Amino acid sequence: MKSPAVFARVAVPAPIYRVFDYALPDPLSNQSLQPGVRLKVPFGKQSRVGVLIETVESPQVALEKIKPVTACLDQQPVIDASLLTLLKWAADYYHHPIGEVIATALPNLLRQGRSSELCYEKRWQLNERGLGLEIESLNKAPKQRALLQYLRQCQGSVDKHQLDAFDPQWQAPLRALIKKNLIEQVTTHPVLQTDPTTAVQRSGHTLNPQQQQALHALADAGQSYQCFLLFGETGSGKTEVYLQWTQMLLKTNRQVLVLVPEIGLTPQLIQRFVKRFGSQLAVSHSGLNDRERLNAWTLARNGEAQVILGTRSAIFTPCPRLGAIIIDEEHDLAFKQQDGFRYGARDLGIRRAQQLNIPILLGSATPSLESLLNCETNKYQQLRLTERAGGAQKPSINLIDVRGQAMQTGLSPALLQAITQTIAQGQQVLLFLNRRGYAPTLMCHECGWVAHCSRCDARLTWHASDGRLRCHHCGHEQRTQTHCPECGNAELHDYGQGTEKIETQLQILFPNLAIVRIDRDSTRRKGALDKQLEQIKSGYAQILIGTQMLAKGHHFPNVTLVGIIDSDQGLFGADFRASERLCQLVLQVAGRAGRAQSPGKVFIQTHHPEHPLLQLIIEQDYAKIAKTLLLEREQTQLPPYTYLAILRAESIQAGD
Ligand code: ADP
Ligand code: ZN
Ligand code: ZN
Repeated sequence: MKSPAVFARVAVPAPIYRVFDYALPDPLSNQSLQPGVRLKVPFGKQSRVGVLIETVESPQVALEKIKPVTACLDQQPVIDASLLTLLKWAADYYHHPIGEVIATALPNLLRQGRSSELCYEKRWQLNERGLGLEIESLNKAPKQRALLQYLRQCQGSVDKHQLDAFDPQWQAPLRALIKKNLIEQVTTHPVLQTDPTTAVQRSGHTLNPQQQQALHALADAGQSYQCFLLFGETGSGKTEVYLQWTQMLLKTNRQVLVLVPEIGLTPQLIQRFVKRFGSQLAVSHSGLNDRERLNAWTLARNGEAQVILGTRSAIFTPCPRLGAIIIDEEHDLAFKQQDGFRYGARDLGIRRAQQLNIPILLGSATPSLESLLNCETNKYQQLRLTERAGGAQKPSINLIDVRGQAMQTGLSPALLQAITQTIAQGQQVLLFLNRRGYAPTLMCHECGWVAHCSRCDARLTWHASDGRLRCHHCGHEQRTQTHCPECGNAELHDYGQGTEKIETQLQILFPNLAIVRIDRDSTRRKGALDKQLEQIKSGYAQILIGTQMLAKGHHFPNVTLVGIIDSDQGLFGADFRASERLCQLVLQVAGRAGRAQSPGKVFIQTHHPEHPLLQLIIEQDYAKIAKTLLLEREQTQLPPYTYLAILRAESIQAGD
């Protein structure tokens, strides 16, 4: 047998820190395969979809061990040369297998080996015959009759989502009606932004002098690398600067990639992008199905979408004419992937901008200490907005000393009174607790046994609503025990508070009030978050209880009271970033509460009212807070002054 002349070095999705060599069978070895195309390869007993890294003359392993590539799936690379460089760098920097890194960067359907061509959406409509048919002629087939009637009401074509909503069992009657030549299938271009009723509004506000200055600085960067930090409090007009800079770049035919922490939580920002860019915009986030995500990806890669707005993983979107990257709320934790390939989308964004030699803009009202230090050392250029564009007033921030107070449900008499007053005035209350679940500790009253995670040894949080114990560290979960595994006693007590417990107990305290809880658990189902946000906007919800999820992006003008239930957690948390997070949280929510006529009030419960950090929070000067925190980090030799790595072991025993 003649040995093939060329070999393929392939990144195969597997938790193994290396690439694999395969032989290229005849027709493939004659083509010049470009790195970045997908190859179907045998792997153990299975077949996997890998990505070609390079072709080589001689393999790393013995010839007789080499298996041939099964098929090449692409004409065009799905990972272009610059992305491939970025991903190789990321695999090295984050110490993660290259095969898995590349797989993470691809939409699900591409990972599964599906075509990367744009998929035209199927739609159906009545044809002439269907429109003219006597409906009674279908009396013997009630399902077909109902579907026909539905399509007449729709007066146009419908897609499968609409049909699903009409009747989950729509396939059979639809097929029957197509067979009878009453319905026809039509295909339409997958529209970038589906709502045709939104009129594109090209012009924005006339910028104030600070915004203008910022825009000039951005324009001056032209098309070369420079990292900017747009530091301006909530409502100071950052988004308007993003929009106008993007417009500027589109005029020179460049694409712009915009990352936000969470799409569902930043509806206002998306609406403004939709209004300004209409069909030039593609949105990509986890709320979309696989097909929709792939379509957004393909539109970006083809260059049809000029503005791509997405969450963390959108940083990997291929954009052949990328002119700039914008990262809103750059301090947000959501940009860090916390499992699998753990990457930071902000940092990868900066790397990508450096590689492509294009500018990148980070924006925040409460920038991360890392970014502020980078401004100080002139790695980034700081752009400052200090005026509130909308003209709203600052809220007041007050401390409640809870020492010795009779607490109910974790709430002090002073906070309870403020809640009652606010509700009486017809306004809404927002309560924060950064701990989901019912209680963070489940303990045996007899012997003191505490429920710990069997995988990572962290304490398990009790989720009463579905009777589960969950590890918030590693994701492990199990059923709640009814008896103590140590002594067999049936009296297990819960200690501490989670959002679920506060919700339950507040409902007992205020039986007539509508209470809505927003956290990872309550929003897990698709559409749940939208529904809850609607309850807040419509005024139905009177008390909102949530985790830091609620601090993002929203403006709730009728929320005039914000209560931080447990700030001590932030002051003395085990995570060295806990105090930074607390300050960011308080200032973020404070910036969103109230409106011009009735500015918001923020109450912070604490056992340590004299704590210097809380005193600084009251002044609401984030720049000053950040200076203090940075000094602390420098003195204690913590990041961003040093590097810190966590070593995590999955097993307590050495071995495999
Ligand atoms: P941020 O993104 O910093 O929170 P926004 O850009 O959302 O701030 O601006 C806050 C509000 O002020 C928005 O309603 C926006 O439309 C408005 N706004 C922004 N810039 C201007 C301006 N130059 N003139 C008038 N209104 C503005
Ligand atoms: Zn016990
Ligand atoms: Zn665990």
